[in-house]
Amino acid sequence: MKFESILLPGIDAKRPLVIAGPCSAETEEQLMGTAKQIADAGVKIFRAGVWKPRTKPGGFEGIGSEALKWMKAAAKETGMYMATEVATEKHVYESLKYGIDLLWIGARTAANPFAVQEIADTLKGVDIPVLIKNPVNPDLELWIGALERLYNAGIKRLGVIHRGFSIPDKTVYRNIPHWHIPIELKRRYPDLPILCDASHIGGRRDMIFKLSQQAMDLNYSGLIIETHCSPDEAWSDKEQQITPAALKKVLDNIVIRDTFQTTEDLSVLRGQIDELDNELLQLLAKRMRVSREIGYYKLEHDMPILQTQRYDQILTDRAYQGERMEMSGNFVKKVLEAIHAESVRQQMVVMEKAKKDDLTV
Ligand code: PEP
Ligand code: MN
Repeated sequence: MKFESILLPGIDAKRPLVIAGPCSAETEEQLMGTAKQIADAGVKIFRAGVWKPRTKPGGFEGIGSEALKWMKAAAKETGMYMATEVATEKHVYESLKYGIDLLWIGARTAANPFAVQEIADTLKGVDIPVLIKNPVNPDLELWIGALERLYNAGIKRLGVIHRGFSIPDKTVYRNIPHWHIPIELKRRYPDLPILCDASHIGGRRDMIFKLSQQAMDLNYSGLIIETHCSPDEAWSDKEQQITPAALKKVLDNIVIRDTFQTTEDLSVLRGQIDELDNELLQLLAKRMRVSREIGYYKLEHDMPILQTQRYDQILTDRAYQGERMEMSGNFVKKVLEAIHAESVRQQMVVMEKAKKDDLTV
């Protein structure tokens, strides 16, 4: 896929590209009041949810098309571009009718190929930038699939929003970032703009700055931050919305590091990383050789490949050791699990081969 710029006329290519506005459009006053203050903070793209996907029925499900009229008025009043979330054919038609400038596909919708295809089919022949949030589940291929559906429908002005992933475990995040997933997406599609939705990742006002800075340090293109004129009274997602004044403070304090300068020091360090990776691979290959030898031993002595007690012991000991070496225990565990899986595979090859040799004798 070869993407075209999502920048709307008059918007600076300078990072970060900022989208700000309330989680939901609630009343005409709330929408207009917030929009004016956000425009005063220098933001050029305004967001508001018009249809809200709620986990359970009975909550505030959005104002619907009526709110699009308010957005149109806010665009006229402030000069900002308007962005909203679409999940169905009807949402797309209505948004286009009221002159919405940028659409995004929400995380729940992005996880549903039927819904994404419906939006893509409706947008055929329309020239509008579309941002796709990561699906709620940490599935990079599903995220890419959603991009492909839009792309195949002729939408080339595409970008993505990283809003974190839903997992059952309680963490400090509302939605765990799993940074490696958007990083892998960026590796595969370097031209694809990525925005960080710090509000939905953190779920808390006090996490917005740190997450936004982290995203900028990872070379993200932009930020989408839920901003409300009185967050405490918001009808949805109140804990993660900040005031326009707080938004301005976040944007004023964020440090944008120059990404184009590769200093000599950096190339020396990168050389060290290359060398270390090489050593790591050699060590792994050596470890696999020993695993195969163990495989032959087990074969000779008629022992099963998997000895769970020893495996559990290894995981616990090494995770503890890793923590003392300034790595997260979880990381060490994951690495070892992967290494163990490969060792088991290698030992199975040894056994399989022995079986075949037996048969051919
Ligand atoms: C939102 O942006 O308000 C929203 C519903 O987000 P998500 O799809 O990321 O949950
Ligand atoms: Mn929200």
